[in-house]
Amino acid sequence: MNFSLSPEQEAIRDNVGRLCGRFGDDYWLERDRTGSFPHEFHAAVAAAGWLGIAMPEEYGGAGLGVTEAALMMHTVARSAGALSAASAIHINIFGPHPIVVFGSAEQKQRWIPDLVAGRAKSCFGVTEPNAGLDTTGVETRAEPAGNGYVIHGRKVWTTTAQEADKVMLLARTTPRADCARRTDGLTLFYTDLNRDHVEVREIPKMGRAAVDSNALFIDGLPVPLEDRIGEEGEGFRYLLHSLNPERILVGLEAVGIGQNALHRATQYAKDRVVFGRPIGQNQAIQHPLAESWMALEAAYLMGLKAASLYDRGEPCGVESNATKYLGAEAGFEACTRAILTLGGMGYAKEFHVERLLREVLITRLAPVSPQLILCHIAEKALGLPKSY
Ligand SMILES: Cc1cc2nc3c(=O)[nH]c(=O)nc-3n(C[C@H](O)[C@H](O)[C@H](O)COP(=O)(O)OP(=O)(O)OC[C@H]3O[C@@H](n4cnc5c(N)ncnc54)[C@H](O)[C@@H]3O)c2cc1C
Repeated sequence: MNFSLSPEQEAIRDNVGRLCGRFGDDYWLERDRTGSFPHEFHAAVAAAGWLGIAMPEEYGGAGLGVTEAALMMHTVARSAGALSAASAIHINIFGPHPIVVFGSAEQKQRWIPDLVAGRAKSCFGVTEPNAGLDTTGVETRAEPAGNGYVIHGRKVWTTTAQEADKVMLLARTTPRADCARRTDGLTLFYTDLNRDHVEVREIPKMGRAAVDSNALFIDGLPVPLEDRIGEEGEGFRYLLHSLNPERILVGLEAVGIGQNALHRATQYAKDRVVFGRPIGQNQAIQHPLAESWMALEAAYLMGLKAASLYDRGEPCGVESNATKYLGAEAGFEACTRAILTLGGMGYAKEFHVERLLREVLITRLAPVSPQLILCHIAEKALGLPKSY
């Protein structure tokens, strides 16, 4: 057993950290205030080649694993940009996964180089208003038309759809009632986000204003056969394959945001003098911060374990879900405690921890809720009956 990073992994952390350091608190505060997409940051990450970290080398990527992608996203979220920075590139890092694993050579050649170079931006259209976490209940349907399909339906919360030119879409090709299993009959597409047939309406939301999330109204979107990933009816299983990497990345992003807040709180606790001594000399201030340090560190280790299992091709569902749960809960606690440590100033935008709290909440809600992770752990780790 070896807990140290390789020199290559250390270099990833250092170089990504240096790049993120070029985009400081003022840059991200302004993006949050104006709700404008961080194009300069996205372009810098693309130019340095980081968007292709986990993409195959033959298509312009670095061919590295989920471990390296997770280290990268942890570093990004720990920087001033927190989840705004991570979400601006997150979909490009993990979203193409089904293409890499299940796409044809022709599709990979057609799509991946553009994603790696940052020439194309994609978004992920899975969640629907009437299905929620029960993904097999999606109502968006793809009907055969000519040499392809035509798609009708609705998606909700589709992140970066204001900016994206491509969308990964999950749609029903066989009604649920006609399928042997409810996971059958769903098909995955990666296609142009053609705004003649898709209305993209931004959802006003609590935080991470720089990166949009949207409702999509899809009306007769034509999709050629060559934009279908793999076999018709197998989309749910293809999607499942990419869920574990996403959970690992989101979990470590949440850890990064929590450590970001903890760092700010610790610094403030050293500097702020009340009753003639630094507030950080009081155990009531120290202990919650010390607890958060441990919780964040433990979630981080779980994340590295999950990523290492994934990269070795071993089962990692329980560990990946645990990473997302532990990271999000620890990150949320750390941000809340940071605000309390700063007292009234914790509520002021210029101290940034309120922004971190608003952002870290997303990692608790998405891509799967804490309740459903607990259901999964109860079933898969403890062998209790499935409850949902
Ligand atoms: C900012 C943001 C960005 C997002 N980006 C994307 C994106 O890019 N693409 C995308 O496809 N989706 C995206 N999502 C959607 C996100 O993945 C969903 O919101 C999430 O999966 C929860 O689904 P829901 O909101 O429909 O909750 P629901 O399914 O309506 O659940 C509501 C609550 O009920 C609980 N619940 C439901 N059933 C059970 C049960 N059986 N047992 C216990 N508890 C239960 C849930 O845990 C949850 O707390 C995003 C969401 C947010 C907030």
